[in-house]
Amino acid sequence: MLTKCANPSCNETLDFSHRGALFLFGREADAMDPGCCAPDDSDSVESFWLCDECASSMTIISDRGGSPVIINLLRDECQQIGTA
Ligand SMILES: [Zn+2]
Repeated sequence: MLTKCANPSCNETLDFSHRGALFLFGREADAMDPGCCAPDDSDSVESFWLCDECASSMTIISDRGGSPVIINLLRDECQQIGTA
């Protein structure tokens, strides 16, 4: 559930009056899971929001496994996002 900024070290809560950036990721059938052969579109989209401040220095991409990672554009770092 999308409730706060995707940056784990930022506690900005999602408020639709905030600006910022919303990222949507389609989760394909997990390539690591051979038992999964029927991707369900309705459940396969994850959304992440970066608050205005974080969005100015960070972006979110998906890695080779399809997991979203935050890229810190200033420090050239990337960080896996938990989806708890
Ligand atoms: Zn933030």
